[in-house]
Formats: sequence, structure tokens, C-alpha cells
Amino acid sequence: MIQLENICKQYINHNHTVHAVDNVSFSVAPNERVGIAGGSGSGKSTLLRLIALLEKPTSGNLWLFGKDVTSIQNYTDIYRSMQMMFQNPLAVIPPRMNLEAFLLEPYINYGLMDIAAAKEDIRQWIQHVDLPETIVNKYPHEVSGGQLQRVVLARIMLMNPKLVLFDEPTSALDAVNQKLVLDLLQKLHREQPFGYVFVSHDIGLLQAVTDRIIVMKDGQIVETIESKRLKEAVHPYTKALVEASL
Ligand code: ADP
Ligand code: MG
Repeated sequence: MIQLENICKQYINHNHTVHAVDNVSFSVAPNERVGIAGGSGSGKSTLLRLIALLEKPTSGNLWLFGKDVTSIQNYTDIYRSMQMMFQNPLAVIPPRMNLEAFLLEPYINYGLMDIAAAKEDIRQWIQHVDLPETIVNKYPHEVSGGQLQRVVLARIMLMNPKLVLFDEPTSALDAVNQKLVLDLLQKLHREQPFGYVFVSHDIGLLQAVTDRIIVMKDGQIVETIESKRLKEAVHPYTKALVEASL
């Protein structure tokens, strides 16, 4: 579903070159749950932005849904099939847009259904992500971070994506809300097939929500390990991340 081959991304910072992503190759199968672990500055967010086509690699090849991205003519299908979720929902939801308007956007942008049907669909999605129906009349600043992330998840899922890219989506939440959002994500993944790449500095969190974990350090992959075999990690950096998340 995604394939990266020798992907590099370099930035020039104050006259020196930062190798943010340094010769990274891996692939993600349909419906697979892949984690990317690593400390801050290891290149996780850059890697997700490259997959999301928000940035171009300095070198290397990227295939999305079987297509070489440099040959893509029409991005509409790709943009609908691939969704991204970030740490801070307030940076994603316009402050003067109520949540119903925010949830209606994809129905309108992609012509999914007429407004009346879309509003009914939204009502069902809101129930499905365990939120009160009345929340759709609220504005983002009137709602908690954990509730907003569930609204964002509902908006992603209603588009029926093939791939979702998560960049630390629960890092700003307290432990209770973090667990609620992660449990919800697992429920949604069981019900509706999609693959995801989940980035986190917390390797213990990744173990709970992924099949396989790729460990990055200084832009490079240092180890790839099945999530349930994390205890058997051999690379000292992976071991240090495991220690840090206990
Ligand atoms: P992570 O998400 O793992 O914390 P990032 O991908 O954000 O890591 O950053 C990796 C490296 O690339 C860091 O050294 C960071 O300073 C640098 N970097 C990231 N984005 C940019 C940018 N837009 N311009 C310059 N340097 C960047
Ligand atoms: Mg980051």
C-alpha cells in the first residue's frame, strides 16, 4: 500500500545540512498497523509529511497505492484515501467553525451525499465515537482535547480511508483520554479495514496499537521489530526507548 525506497530528506539549517530522513526504506501492507518510534528530532514527522505528499524527498522513490507518486496526475483520490491526524486538533479545526460544519466539509468536498443525509450520517458517527449528539453545535474551544480528537477521528473514518497517518495524536492528552482515544482507534480498525502508520516517542504505546514497530534514530531506521516481540529487541537504542516508556 505504501512503499519507500532509499528516501532521503535534507534541510539546510544555518549553513549546515540536516539529514532529517536518511536512506529510509520500508513498506506497509493493506490493513497493516505500523509504528514509528524514536526520540524527538529523529525524523518521524518529516517521514510522515513525505508519505502524506506535504513535502518532496531530496532523493528516493515513493509508491502510494501501487503508483509512483511522481507519476500521479490527479490527487483527488489519493487525498481522500490518505488521511492524517496530528497532536493538536485546535491547529486543524478552524476556531469559528462549529463541529458540525467541520464534519460536513468532507461530504461537501468529495460529494459523498446530500446535506440532509450527511447530517444524519454525522449524527451516527458522533454516537459511534462515544460523544453526545449535542457536541456538533459547539465550537472547538468549548470542547476538551480528548473529545476533539474523537471528532477528528470520526471525520477521518467517514471518508473510508485506505491509509491514516498519525503524528503523536494522543501526546497532548492525559492518560485517561489517551487510552479512550487509542481504544476507540482499535475499535474502528477492527470494524473498518484501513492501514495506518502511527508515530510516537512512546514505544510502549506503539506496542499496544501496532503490528510492527520501526525504530528511528538520527533519520535512519535502526531496527524493525514485531510489536509483540518488543522484549526481544537487540538494538541498544530500542532497548533504551523500552526502558524509558515503562
Ligand atoms: P521528530 O518528529 O522525530 O521529532 P522531525 O522530523 O520533526 O523529528 O525533525 C527531524 C530533524 O529535521 C530535526 O533535526 C529538525 O530540526 C529538522 N527539521 C524538520 N523539519 C524541518 C524544516 N522544515 N526545516 C529545517 N529543519 C527541519
Ligand atoms: Mg514530530
